[in-house]
Amino acid sequence: MGASLKTEAVILRSLRYGEADRILHVYSLEHGRIGAIAKGVRRAKSRFGGRLEPITRSALLLHRGRGDLYTITGADTVEAYRRLREHHASLDMAARACDAVGRVFAEGEPHPAVFHLLCNELALLEADPANATHANQLAFRLKLLVAAGLAPQLGSCAACGEADHLSGFSGAAGGVVCSACEAGAFPLGAEAHGFLTGALTVPLAHAPGASDLALRQAERVIASTLEHHGGLRLRDAAPRRSVAARSRG
Ligand SMILES: [Zn+2]
Repeated sequence: MGASLKTEAVILRSLRYGEADRILHVYSLEHGRIGAIAKGVRRAKSRFGGRLEPITRSALLLHRGRGDLYTITGADTVEAYRRLREHHASLDMAARACDAVGRVFAEGEPHPAVFHLLCNELALLEADPANATHANQLAFRLKLLVAAGLAPQLGSCAACGEADHLSGFSGAAGGVVCSACEAGAFPLGAEAHGFLTGALTVPLAHAPGASDLALRQAERVIASTLEHHGGLRLRDAAPRRSVAARSRG
């Protein structure tokens, strides 16, 4: 006998399975990331309809059997995010946000703050497609790092504690480094440093903007932190062609 549970979750990913089923990766409020099977969901008359599409916030009823996989026995849509789907940029950024959550957090690590952070990000993209910016995606990822316990040290040199002459970032050291400790670090300008500290201190909706150069440095900070301390890599935080187009213009 297994146990039934109810939880709100965001559908991160959906993979075809067997003839009519799907395996879903969801991030739930109470249980963090979980894998669940939706049986018969690909049949035309499925009782789930479109309620289990990726980037949907749902109230799920789950049954846990003997395996690791839950079975979805009920689903009610809490938020379908219809508006963000009408624009390529906001849909793309929502997909990148869901992908990042799925990669950074393993199963069996509940972080209610991550669920709320993801819902906040999706709500921002839903409210205005103009929020689908590189800066917004980086601010979101920085807050994910904090939730994962991987926040980079930004206030003083992560190697020697010096508060001035901060000129680089070292993923291995776990933060900014001063000019005396910068061997193995990459350059981090004052604007990128300001963006990182700003994005970490204000709500997601008020995340600062920055030049493309500063945003690229900030993205490298996030990537290098995850690589050294989480052993993982994320997709780029923005489509490459639009980054290239912006820096040409
Ligand atoms: Zn130093």
